[in-house]
Amino acid sequence: MNPFSYVPATDTSSAVALAAGGAKYLAGGTNLVDLMRQGIETPRELVDITRLPLADIEEQPGGGLRIGALVRNTRVATDERIRDRYPVLAQAILNGASPQLRNRATVGGNLMQRTRCGYFYDRHSACGKRDPGAGCAALDGFNRTHAILGTSESCVSVHPSDMCVALAALDAVVNIAGRDPVPLVDFHRLPGDTPHVETMLAPGELVTSIDLPPAQPGRSVYLKVRDRASYAFALVSVAAVVRMEAGRATRVRIALGGVAAKPWRAYEAEELLTGTSLDDELIHQAAGQALAGSRQRAHNAHNAFKAELARRLIRRALQGVRS
Ligand code: SF4
Repeated sequence: MNPFSYVPATDTSSAVALAAGGAKYLAGGTNLVDLMRQGIETPRELVDITRLPLADIEEQPGGGLRIGALVRNTRVATDERIRDRYPVLAQAILNGASPQLRNRATVGGNLMQRTRCGYFYDRHSACGKRDPGAGCAALDGFNRTHAILGTSESCVSVHPSDMCVALAALDAVVNIAGRDPVPLVDFHRLPGDTPHVETMLAPGELVTSIDLPPAQPGRSVYLKVRDRASYAFALVSVAAVVRMEAGRATRVRIALGGVAAKPWRAYEAEELLTGTSLDDELIHQAAGQALAGSRQRAHNAHNAFKAELARRLIRRALQGVRS
């Protein structure tokens, strides 16, 4: 591990000022410290933000909840208000990582975690996310776990978070110190020509909390397919949130994980289903629509199975929440 200095911050504005010179924020450390140990991240300075007053879950006027960036994942998943009003979020978090990691990891860190692409972690492989302009070993390498939506010739990595997929389906908003809030669906960036730029944050900006809008009546579910029964990242996951009134879907939200560099909202499928009774034929059609833009390499497409897996998972999720 490279030498670095360590500075504990006592308030948000001093943390942001300390980080302006290129430091990294340290909270749970469950991803950053791993990356530092392997020489992928080499910050010269860490600003410890664990003492900042950002560790509460608070009621908001109008019925929403504000989750501080330093709230541990376990606490979010076990909070009675989350479990009652936003069960899809609790399900998604409990589907991620291990109990030990969830006890340590924070909401802000979950948002900021980096891809688990094996080539990103292997310093002997070409990776433009790790070394801008270096190319992408995954394109012609083993890409079974990689993206099928929103990819570019520069990067085909996926965002690893389960939590963020549920937040995307819940229309959550990210609060950032010193600037306007950003919808979660706009927070992460697709790779384009700059895969190393992963979020819309400018260097040194700090996520302070996430807002959940007032809970809507209806049903929701988070489904995840992975290689192991636990402690594995999603091959594909789906968060579905549906409100049915008088036999019609008046609100449909579908978000996918494991398929893109960001939580992927299936807007066209949502639109197709809204106002309908969610019959099997329409669900089938919507699932196809959700994956219509998926792309695999002409050769070397180990991840080609993901499109059909995602279609099936969407169908299962929607059939489960329509009653
Ligand atoms: Fe790097 Fe992205 Fe290519 Fe993986 S997919 S090697 S993270 S550029």
